[in-house]
Amino acid sequence: MIYLDHAATTPLDPAALQAMLPWLQGEVGNPASDHAWGHAARAAVERARGQVAALLGAQPEEIVWTSGATESNNLAIKGALEFRGLRGAHLVTARTEHKSVVDSVRQMESQGLRVSWLKPDAQGLIMVEQVLAALAPDTALVSLMWVNNETGTINPVEALAPRLRERGILFHVDAVQAAGKLPIDLSRAPIDLLSLSAHKLYGPQGIGALFVRKRPRARLSPQLHGGGHEQGMRSGTLPTHQIAGFGEACRVAGERLAEEGARLAALRDHLQQRLQQVLPGLHLNGHPQDRVPGILNLSFEGVEGESLRASLGDLAVSSGSACSSATREPSYVLRALGRDDELAGASLRFSLGRGTTAAEVDRAAARVIEAVGALRGIAGAGSA
Ligand code: PMP
Repeated sequence: MIYLDHAATTPLDPAALQAMLPWLQGEVGNPASDHAWGHAARAAVERARGQVAALLGAQPEEIVWTSGATESNNLAIKGALEFRGLRGAHLVTARTEHKSVVDSVRQMESQGLRVSWLKPDAQGLIMVEQVLAALAPDTALVSLMWVNNETGTINPVEALAPRLRERGILFHVDAVQAAGKLPIDLSRAPIDLLSLSAHKLYGPQGIGALFVRKRPRARLSPQLHGGGHEQGMRSGTLPTHQIAGFGEACRVAGERLAEEGARLAALRDHLQQRLQQVLPGLHLNGHPQDRVPGILNLSFEGVEGESLRASLGDLAVSSGSACSSATREPSYVLRALGRDDELAGASLRFSLGRGTTAAEVDRAAARVIEAVGALRGIAGAGSA
């Protein structure tokens, strides 16, 4: 098995597991309880809050725990708009956003929100000037992802943030695929709301966070009502084990960011070159430079997507994102980049991670070359 699907989910880091274990084996205590057991759990939660904040250059009290980035994105978008009572206002976002942003925005659109859906360029980039040109006098919120989960393309969110701040427009960034891969410093970038997910950076599944800026304060209406946890923004008993694992995963990710980024970029480039040397008719989906180290997305001319994926054996890669591949439609992200249905359908996303070795990359390349060659042979024979 060669696992090149780290953008879908990552294995749990051993240090994150160690941080979780006490809370799964014997330790008991609700972090909201006012006794020694509760205080111990609360201490673990607050330590992790500091670790997540440190990865972002944020303050611990700016981190709100959620069940994952789907919830973070829902809370940021619906919460910000509802708090301002601006359901009939205007929002700017992109067609290449994750489904959890797209569908949250659509939900608000059905209630009267006006939306500008920006189209990326052919490499998946949304430009600063393009966002600014789409703003209206009543624009309440801009939501733009830092890194696209299918192509790895990096949007210029750090350059955009001050331009929105000076106009008093709230800025939400889905940073799920950026955190732990790119340096993030929210003490410098005036982003108001930022979504994270633990399982994309070697933490456990089912836990995420929303950064909510304190100064100036980004205000949200809660989407889950109850005991008033997380400063009233997100009720529900905190899962101490998940949170402890998430915090530790962030610490490790921060420590390894630079070194691991350079290693993955070299492996990714090697994979791309190997495939391009041997196979004609390849198209890179995404930006050749402005992309995260671990992601390579290619479309293969002259093969049928479903057959290609079926012939990859024990190579785990994605077509489109795992979240939307249940629909088996060609990726809406690649369609937004201008790829036709056929090329969008015949695409593979390779996403490399900590466990990936050079030998695995070579084996993966050989497997793909063999599969594409065989399918093109059949297609060629059929048409002759
Ligand atoms: N945003 C992006 C960019 C993602 O890649 C994902 C995960 N596919 C999500 C949001 C949703 O994250 P979660 O799995 O934590 O709900």
